[in-house]
Amino acid sequence: MLPFKLVYSDAYYLPIGKHVFPAEKYRRIRDRLISTGVADATDFMEPQPATDQDILLVHVQKLKTGALSPREEMEMEIPYSRDLVEAFWLSAGGSILAGRQALKDRVCISIGGGFHHAHPDHGEGFCMIHDVAVAIRRLQRDNQIHTAMTVDCDVHHGNGTAAIFAGTRTESVPLPSVSASTLNQSWSAKTRMRGAHAGDVFTISLHQQNNYPVYKPPSSIDVDLPDGIGDDDYLAWLDNALSSAFRQFQPDLICYIAGADPYREDQLGGLDLTIEGLKKRDELVFRVAKTKGIPVMVTYAGGYAMNVEDTVTIHTNTVIAAKEIFGS
Ligand SMILES: [Zn+2]
Repeated sequence: MLPFKLVYSDAYYLPIGKHVFPAEKYRRIRDRLISTGVADATDFMEPQPATDQDILLVHVQKLKTGALSPREEMEMEIPYSRDLVEAFWLSAGGSILAGRQALKDRVCISIGGGFHHAHPDHGEGFCMIHDVAVAIRRLQRDNQIHTAMTVDCDVHHGNGTAAIFAGTRTESVPLPSVSASTLNQSWSAKTRMRGAHAGDVFTISLHQQNNYPVYKPPSSIDVDLPDGIGDDDYLAWLDNALSSAFRQFQPDLICYIAGADPYREDQLGGLDLTIEGLKKRDELVFRVAKTKGIPVMVTYAGGYAMNVEDTVTIHTNTVIAAKEIFGS
């Protein structure tokens, strides 16, 4: 048995037909966790869908009713349907549950969610609604948290997250210099720091600069990584971003968006991380959360490996990493 819970439902499956997004990955991750003995059936909690009221804490009504213009539907890049609405409402409910459970157990992983491209008024990039933002706003409304920090390690910029929480940003501070000793200086990531938050949600995005979305609204910290960077450089930048963030901000909850698409064999990514490197990434986030005594909820976001089994392995390893860090 795991020392924390996993949130999962068969209905996380996204009804989008044949698509680069492997909608069956959630069920496959669950099956892998069980068949390899990492988790057993009692470790899983079944979420309830978020209520419309929850969704409206972040989004406008038309996303549910389907009153979308052709352009809005095109931007979402997945076909609108009532079933799709239900799957996204469920993923938001799953993230709310994962947030609550993380406050009890220090960590909780939803085998789904992480739809970080969704904006308040439109869906985008396979994301209809922003489950993590809904969870943050719901937990705040219930007075369970006051502040949160999003740590987005999907290969794509968290533009929806940045847009939703933009209103809480304050003046920039200069970026503390990156530790040159640990970083390969043959390239340099452009780091944009908006930091020094007086607001309630601090957003970090570590992403490939030369990738979707074209327009990247500012997060509290953006690390714009060049193409093709590997494990060591990535981990050094992540470490640096987390250190910088915690110098400025103490959240009640960390929302880790653990995208599998920085993987070197991803079809929609251009970084060069290995499966082992991605597990180290997870361990780094969990170790920091544990050391600082801050609960962490996890969602899975993207993952488009040539071989879907690799995506499943990367996401499964996130559970193993949490088990290793929080089980000891
Ligand atoms: Zn992605």
